Amino acid sequence: MKEQLMAHPVFGMAARQFDRTADHLNLTEDVRERCKWPKRLITVTIPIKRDNGDTEVFFGYRVQHHLSRGPVKGGLRFHPNVELGEVAALSMWMNWKCALMELPFGGGKGGVTCDPRSMSQRELENVTRRYTSEMLPFIGPETDVMAPDMGTNEQTMAWMTDVYSTHAGHLVPGIVTGKPVNLQGSQGRTVATGHGVAFLATRALTKCKIKHENATAIVQGFGNVGSYAALTLSRFGVKVIGISDITGAIFNENGIKVEDVFDHVAANGGVKDFAGADSIDPDEMLVQKCDVLVPAALERVITEENAPKLQCRVLAEAANGPTTTQADAIIEERGDIFLVPDILCNAGGVTVSYFEWVQNLQRFQWSEQEVLTKLETMLAKAFDRVQWFADKQGVSNRVAALALGIKEVADVKKQRGLFP
Ligand code: GLU
Repeated sequence: MKEQLMAHPVFGMAARQFDRTADHLNLTEDVRERCKWPKRLITVTIPIKRDNGDTEVFFGYRVQHHLSRGPVKGGLRFHPNVELGEVAALSMWMNWKCALMELPFGGGKGGVTCDPRSMSQRELENVTRRYTSEMLPFIGPETDVMAPDMGTNEQTMAWMTDVYSTHAGHLVPGIVTGKPVNLQGSQGRTVATGHGVAFLATRALTKCKIKHENATAIVQGFGNVGSYAALTLSRFGVKVIGISDITGAIFNENGIKVEDVFDHVAANGGVKDFAGADSIDPDEMLVQKCDVLVPAALERVITEENAPKLQCRVLAEAANGPTTTQADAIIEERGDIFLVPDILCNAGGVTVSYFEWVQNLQRFQWSEQEVLTKLETMLAKAFDRVQWFADKQGVSNRVAALALGIKEVADVKKQRGLFP
């Protein structure tokens, strides 16, 4: 299994990041091995009837990286490229993210290999319900709490809540986060990840002595994360000049009205042909001059090919794992780009998920203002700790963020000891 996981490009990348940081932390072989490998890798088949009457079997996964610090936490992804190795890598990153943010969770990630864009609501509902049902022995508010990720949303979470609660015989809101607000979801959860990205990007601009009122941004991806990152950046006064999604890329150096892009996407299903900007090649868009570049889509989009050509001052990694190991080395060598690493940059989502879980356990609702204020306080603290560690140890922001997360997990493993 170890070889199989290491052969996966995304897991290999997460494992190399881990090894490098573990070297830096001088972790002993014993703790290193226990921190690196996932605790549980669950694979299920999900048979459903398609709308045309055919039966199709999908594969679903959940990787629970470790449970040493509390329940496993992390999203559920529906995407055609989902593979066990990718899900395992994403669960490892969730680990370090939760620990860096000092949340009482271990890392997890789930996925179903399917193309939600080509499926009806009924088909998506059936996949979600069957997946949840297959996962019943492994999940619960004290063991594993899922949330939306790529290709899933609050409706997916509502169906999951329904399946789990039906089996329990009563409503169990703490089984997932990112639920609709009237089903005891949290105020501010939908905007949380994007809000956090924009908040941290402006802090990074300040570090670079750039006033955010004069700054420009390019955002790759217009899903839940990219769209709200773009919107919040524009509300903070940053001029958004480029946006892309699966349908194409748009560019306007005088600024794009992000609210209007929301309307255009709602009506047309993507950013393509937006009237307030020119179209541009999506790969070209990434290397245009800007102050903040926000990759908010898939993994491994900043590569050794485009890393030398980047013209941004701040790279705000809203996606998980957007920068390859080779690109990372190039960016470090260049030294002119301020990196806000993924496990810090997109931690707003899981932080508000934590708030949602706490509210659910207490049967209490906080206001949006309360949620966002608490979120900003926690993100600012994590940003400052990463800066402090990077400056003190002379390491990159990536290694600093990983080191803070990994050390937290390693310490708990040591304290709890090895059973039996
Ligand atoms: N899917 C999000 C992430 O990658 C959120 C996870 C959560 O809220 O549990 O961080």
